[in-house]
Amino acid sequence: MNVKFLDLQAINQSFGKELTDASNGVINSGWYLRSSQTEAFEAEWGTYCNAKYAVGVGNGLDALRLVLMSWKIMYGWKDGDEVIVPSNTFIATALAVSQAGLKPTFCDVNQEDALICADENYLKSVITPNTRCIIPVHLYGKVANLNKLYEFAKNQGIQILEDACQSHGAKTDYKGNRTCAYSFYPGKNLGALGDGGCVTTDDKELATLVRNLANYGQTIKYLHDYQGLNSRLDEIQAAILRVKLRRLDADNQRRINIAKYYYSEISSEFAGKENNQLKFVADGSHVYHIFPYICENRLNTQQFLKENRIETQIHYPVPCHKQKAYHSYKDVKLKNAEFFAEHELSLPISPVMTDEAVEYVIRNLKNVNN
Ligand SMILES: *Cc1c(COP(=O)(O)O)cnc(C)c1O
Repeated sequence: MNVKFLDLQAINQSFGKELTDASNGVINSGWYLRSSQTEAFEAEWGTYCNAKYAVGVGNGLDALRLVLMSWKIMYGWKDGDEVIVPSNTFIATALAVSQAGLKPTFCDVNQEDALICADENYLKSVITPNTRCIIPVHLYGKVANLNKLYEFAKNQGIQILEDACQSHGAKTDYKGNRTCAYSFYPGKNLGALGDGGCVTTDDKELATLVRNLANYGQTIKYLHDYQGLNSRLDEIQAAILRVKLRRLDADNQRRINIAKYYYSEISSEFAGKENNQLKFVADGSHVYHIFPYICENRLNTQQFLKENRIETQIHYPVPCHKQKAYHSYKDVKLKNAEFFAEHELSLPISPVMTDEAVEYVIRNLKNVNN
């Protein structure tokens, strides 16, 4: 058996004619940007996310960057003001901060779930008088501890921007207003057939500013109040996303079931040791964009699986503070972020993965000799 890490061809083929019909509809309509499909998708995605406003943009990086650019204008933040970013994330989280003229402060994550450490004392130790924002990343599909984070942020006068690029459809019991950045990169739980992104928020002023900044900083046709970007969700992607959104909950449920299966059969190589396997969560707050398997000897495990035609990946092999792009942080030490960079191995998981494929992966994992 051959097990792909993520079979995008099979995923998109599983929608049958629906995707080609959707894109043909746009091709024949004569409208390719900022028209009815984007408007309809924004309305549907806003409703799905329980947010008053949804603004389609070009990609996830821009979604993050545009919110930061907007808040900089709204709240008078200065160049070089600081934003807290967990270091084990995809680099885009940090790039958005830098590209908005702000400065990332990399922080550590919890050992139990690889998410931003929301402990008040820890956060107090990383903020400074120049900290303006915290970006919790819902890594692997699991929502961070929003109740604690928003409470801390409120007390400190700090904004929270959620990097939800891996957590489409993940639930939270947090009841307040949220601002989230989404990516619809093809491999995400809700993926387009190209680039796409969205900002969701309950703040009308923010939504308007993001929309204007994403359209050359234009307020009225040919009147530009800001030096904006060109970052738009296009009509074909919006039409595709509308089709795929209808199946998102069912797809996420399949991911959760696969994760449950994995957890029931594979015990931690780290059981009883200092760093345990991440725990299975079935309350809908985790949609398993990634299935992280923590292994002591990753190279060996990955090689063995590869020999048995099972594809795996690593998310992420180098934490942001150890990247060349952020070389000025090279002496920073973040224990848990570095641990995950060394030991995380992402196993195949997707809505089209069969039970037989999951069983095959499990069988092989049990045969790894470390
Ligand atoms: C995918 C991703 C992004 C960036 O999204 P793009 O659409 O590729 O720009 C940002 N943050 C996280 C955590 C991601 O997984």
